[in-house]
This record gives sequence, structure tokens and C-alpha cells, in this order.
Amino acid sequence: MIKTHILGFPRIGEQRELKTALERHWRGELAAEALEAQAAELRARHWRLQQRAGLDHVTVGDFALYDHVANLIQLFGCEPARFGFSGRETPLQRYFVMARGSTAHAHSEACGCGAAPGDAAAALEMTKWFDTNYHYLVPEFDAGTAFSLHPERLLAEVDEAIALPASPKVALLGPVSFLHLGKSREDGFDRLALLERLLPAYEQLLARLAARGVTWVQLDEPVLGLDLAPAWQAALRQAYARLARAELPLPMLASYFSPLAGNLALACELPVAGLHVDAVRAPDELLAVARCLPRERELSVGIVDGRNIWRSDLEAALQRLREVRELRGGRLWVAASCSLLHLPFSLRQDRALDAELQAWLAGAVEKLDELRVLRRALWGDEAGVARELAESRAARAARAASLRVRQAAVAARVAALPADADRRHSPFPARQAAQRRRLRLPAFPTTTIGSFPQTPAIRAARAAFRRGELPQADYRQAMRQEIELAVRKQEALGLDVLVHGEAERNDMVEYFGEQLAGFAFTANGWVQSYGSRCVKPPVLFGDVSRPQAMTVDWTVFAQSLTARPMKGMLTGPITILQWSFVRDDQPRADTALQIALAIRDEVAELETAGIAVIQIDEPALREGLPLRRDARADYLAWATRAFRVAASPVRDDTQIHTHMCYAEFNDILPDIAALDADVITLETSRSGMALLRAFGDFRYPNEIGPGVYDIHSPRVPEAAEMQRLLRKAAEVIPAGQLWVNPDCGLKTRGWPETEAALRHMVDAARALRGEG
Ligand code: GLN
Ligand code: ZN
Repeated sequence: MIKTHILGFPRIGEQRELKTALERHWRGELAAEALEAQAAELRARHWRLQQRAGLDHVTVGDFALYDHVANLIQLFGCEPARFGFSGRETPLQRYFVMARGSTAHAHSEACGCGAAPGDAAAALEMTKWFDTNYHYLVPEFDAGTAFSLHPERLLAEVDEAIALPASPKVALLGPVSFLHLGKSREDGFDRLALLERLLPAYEQLLARLAARGVTWVQLDEPVLGLDLAPAWQAALRQAYARLARAELPLPMLASYFSPLAGNLALACELPVAGLHVDAVRAPDELLAVARCLPRERELSVGIVDGRNIWRSDLEAALQRLREVRELRGGRLWVAASCSLLHLPFSLRQDRALDAELQAWLAGAVEKLDELRVLRRALWGDEAGVARELAESRAARAARAASLRVRQAAVAARVAALPADADRRHSPFPARQAAQRRRLRLPAFPTTTIGSFPQTPAIRAARAAFRRGELPQADYRQAMRQEIELAVRKQEALGLDVLVHGEAERNDMVEYFGEQLAGFAFTANGWVQSYGSRCVKPPVLFGDVSRPQAMTVDWTVFAQSLTARPMKGMLTGPITILQWSFVRDDQPRADTALQIALAIRDEVAELETAGIAVIQIDEPALREGLPLRRDARADYLAWATRAFRVAASPVRDDTQIHTHMCYAEFNDILPDIAALDADVITLETSRSGMALLRAFGDFRYPNEIGPGVYDIHSPRVPEAAEMQRLLRKAAEVIPAGQLWVNPDCGLKTRGWPETEAALRHMVDAARALRGEG
């Protein structure tokens, strides 16, 4: 009567086997067959883990060699025509061309693929998957998009599972979310118009799965967690009315990451066989759903947190599940809140974590085990899992009582924080005047975003130092040489505000997390970000404080090498919060404020050390925005305050910069203005300054540095091209407010293209000043 399942499992592998195999394949060292064999082995291994945990079904269809949305593009035969495939490529070759772009593609002015003629076909655009740090490949739709079913890969995976033997439940993105997540290639084209064309492909697929003996198909419709326009709600009705007509398999609709809110009644009404809800992100809705969902439907309760690494409170979970069972009299599935894709494979044996921390944490494998325990307890065998329940209770209690979690000094400081701690002394115009007197910069001042090329030598030195093979003094010396090199190059280029280049940092969050109290790091806690790329988010487990200065030495050393202003470089509190696994025992807002206070101390110390310009990067401010509109104002209020708390201890003549990338700021312009940074640098070049128009229309009051070239590509644009962009910028933003800089940091670039591009950039700025 009670079943357990998961919505998806991490596919990268315990030792990132998939990453290794993919990268070898792309380098031509591993044949396609061997890559596929490695992938099949990973799937089988992951299904066995699911079986061992007693799940009623193993989940099939969640695996992808690059991305699960890209899989759907091939499954439903809607590869964009712009790639100009000849038909001679294998599906796998086409898949990787869409994911990574191609140099081998015969392409013309007319194909509209976004690349210059003769250039490669640009890869599909990548966008963040809802509010996660996972990036999916964006499907492209236009009036000519047609769909056809290509189920071979998926059916082969189903067969693999059946052969294991295991009972597969197939997980797929549902048709409405698939269309929603795509983009229209023509202005004004409504991709909902494609629904009628897409549904038959889903129907055929369901029939094929039924023929294979698949009994359940999980159709993810995470758009249920968004504020949907009536047309999209109607699309859900239309889609599921139609798919319900198909015989087997039974559709289980899945929503996650966000409350159903205004879509609750709709979700309960759709004629499906089951509904999965996220009881971690929307705990207050659970009973309402349990009451509203017709009794003959299965309710899947996502009670184990699929987005965070804390061990569950199993007893509390059991109590909630029993309440639901009481209400519904059975037909209960127990699950993790969302796919486990967003978790590390396992944390129990991680060699970088001490035993105390390990006991508090749960990776994907440990979450499976939690489901096993819940299942047995709900099946009446509580005695059989008494030890596990006791352990879970003890771990939660130990964590709550641990002296490592709470620091009285941090609480006292937060409590005593003056109400105006987030205010600069004077309004922007007075600060601007003071900064102009101090810095004496030309019009259109030039700068960069912080990092310079991370050469193999830098990476090797850092790695050797971390392994303990390079003595600290030698490491420092090596980094100082890199800083000196970067300063000399910047002076030679004639940049106005310099940076030290971030050679000593491998990651903008990890670097700070490692020096702050309250953070821990895993050795193997990798989470897929996109394709073969993984990140290893820090674990923010306790009150945050700053035992000592983190960047002052490097920055002061860099400043000592030049008479030009050296920009101090910090990561902002929201970005540190957003890119970490954060504690669940206090509101995120409180954690953000603690981080802000630590950064604030660093800002103050940099100023005291004579640094006149300090940049606090917040590239993740936008991505922290809640999916539901009604939750946004609250988030933006505490997030912008945290930034201001970090930025505000300084004098008027100290200039605070911030930096953001990943565009799409139109809806939060007032909040960006509320940061009150003296200068903001933005990623704008690819949108051809369209983004800047919004800042202009909004009459953004402070100074802005729109990125004048794309740092994601080695291409070196001509000075004239950057000049054109700057002139466009000057049409919408008063020239006196403009800075000149690249889109983002340059750490992934090589020095030759970096120097060439920056030379052109300085030339462009000079031309605008009339010095050309
Ligand atoms: N200062 C960082 C760098 O230059 C900023 C990175 C980012 O915005 N993602 O690398
Ligand atoms: Zn950036």
C-alpha cells in the first residue's frame, strides 16, 4: 500500500566516472561504444542502489549523457534546423553538437544559428534549471517545429532495467514544462501553439512504454511551482486530458521546488493516476493536497530533502506521513522532494569531513537509505529499524547541541547591529564627487572584473600547495609573481583601475568559505552543474565569522606595485549563500546577514589598508529569486540589505563596485539600484546592450560598466566593435556614468587573447574620450 521511489538520481557517478568518460570521448580517446558502456554500467549501479534501498521502482529516463532536457529534444525529434545536420551524423554526434557547438558544420548566413558565417554553429543556450545551479540546454521552438518519436535510447534503458531485473518507472519532463522551458526563436511566436503537435509524440511514447510492460511514468511538470498564466494552466488541462486517454502506463505528475499555491486545485484535478508534491519546500500545503486530491489517486510525498545535504528528521517525517495516510487511507508514496541530481553521490565516507559532521549529513545514497527506513516503519516494522531511527534522532540532537554550530559572539553582534548599518554615510552624488577627487580617473574608465588567466602553472602550484608538496613560502612567492605579472601587464595595457588577478583562488566561493568559520568542505561532494562540469559546494553548517583577514595581504601587495588604484576583490554574501549547501536550522536571511558581517569586516580592513576601490561580486543575486512572485519582495529586501551591510562600513571616497553576470535583470532593477553600489559591472555584450536600455529607461542612478566583450569565447573583437557597443551604451546611459570592462572575469582565457582583447578595449575607451 505504501511505496517508495525517487524522482531521479545523480548520473555523474560516485567517482565522477561519467565526467571522465565524456571528456575522454570528446578528446577522441574513448570510442562512442565505450562511453555508452560506461553510462550503462553507471545506470545499472545506481538502479541496484535503489533496489537495495527497497524502492518499489527504479527510475529510468533520468539519466543523460549531457542533460535530460537535451535528451527530450532528441526523443521528440525537434533538433533545431539551424544545426544543418546532414543525416550522416549519429544521434550521439548530433547530441554533442547541440550541447557543445560545432566547428565542423557547414553553415550559412541564412541558418540563423547565431554564429558568424564560416564560424561554428553555436551550442544550444544554457539556462539555470529553476532555482538550482544545474544548467539545462534550452530547446528552440518556432512555427516550423515538428515532433517525431525517437524512443530507441529510452527504450534501451528500460530494457536494461528490466533485464537487471528491476521494475522501471520512467521519468520524463512533461509536455507543458518542456514547452515552457524552451524559447521561441521568432518574436511573438507562442510556443504553446505547438502543444497539439507535441502531444501525439507523448502518446506514442506512452504506448511504446506500455508495450514494454512499464506500469508507471512520472511526468515532471515543475512549472506547477510557478505563477502560471491562464493559457499555461489551460495547456496543462488539455495535455493531461489527452494523455489520460492512453491506456497504461499510469501517469504520476510531479511538481517540485516550490509550493503549488494557485495551481493546487488544478494539480489535484488533472486526470492522472498520481501526484508528487514537494513537502520540503511546501510543508504547509501537504495536508491541503492530501485532502484535495481524489482518493483513488496516489499521493507521492517528497518528504526527504532532495536539495540539501542534511540528514532527515525521520521521526518527524514519519509523523507527517502517518497524518497523510490517516487522511487518505493508503495510496501513499514516499519520496525525496525532487530528483537527487542536486546532491553529492554520498557524504558518509567523505575523507575531508570529520566524523561529527559526517553524521549530520546525507548524500544521495544516504537519502535512499532514509527512504528504506521510512518504508519499513510505515509498513509496521518500526522495531526493525529502531536502530536507524535512534541514530537519526541522535544525529539531529547532536547537531542542534553542538558548540560548533552556535557562536554567542555572532548572535550578539547581529542583535546589536544598528538599524543604519546598511547605509553609506552620504547619498551617491556626494560619494561620487569625493571618489572623483580621490581617484582622478579619466572619462570612460577602464577596468576588468577580477580574475586573469589561470595558467597551468598557477593551477599546478595551487594543487601542489594543497597536497602539501609546495611549502607555504614558495607558494606565496609563486602567487606574488603571478600578481606582479598581472599588474605589469595591466599597466602596459593602460588600464585605469587594476586588479590583482585572483591567482590564489580556484573558486570565488570556496576561497572565502575556507577562511570563514562555519563552513566545511567535502573531498568528493560533487554536483553536476552542466554536461561534464561539476561543482563542489561548501557546507555552511554553523554561525559564520571571520577569524582573520582573507584578502588584505594579497591586495596590499598588489597595490604596492602600482600607483594606479588596485581594486580589492570579494565575493558577496548572497553569492556565498547561494552557491553553498546552507544550514536548515535558521532562516536563509539570518545566514546571509552573518556572512555579510564577515565580508563587512574585510571591506573595512581593506579600506584601512589604503585600498580605495573594493568590488563585491554578486553574480548569484538574481538566481536566488524565489520561483513564486509573492515570495520575492521578502527575499529581495533581505538580500539587498545583506549586500549593503557588507558594503557600507566605508568612507564616502572609497568606491564600492559590484558585479553580476547571467543577464535578465529587468524585473529586479529597483533592487539592483537598492544595492547602492557606486559602480556595477554587468555581462551585456551578447545581448548587444539591450539589457542596458532597461537600466537607461529605469534611470539607474549610479555608475555602470556594461561588458563590451564576451569572455566565454577566445574570439578577440576589434576595437571598432567595442566602440560601437559603447556608443550604443552612451545612447541610453549618460556618458559620465559609463565604465569600460569585459563581461566577466578572465580566468578561463589564455593570456594572448586576453591581452589582445584588452588592448582593443583600452583603444575603444580612448577613442570615446576623443583621444583616439
Ligand atoms: N571576480 C570574479 C572573476 O573575475 C567574478 C566571477 C563571476 O562573476 N562569476 O572571476
Ligand atoms: Zn561575472
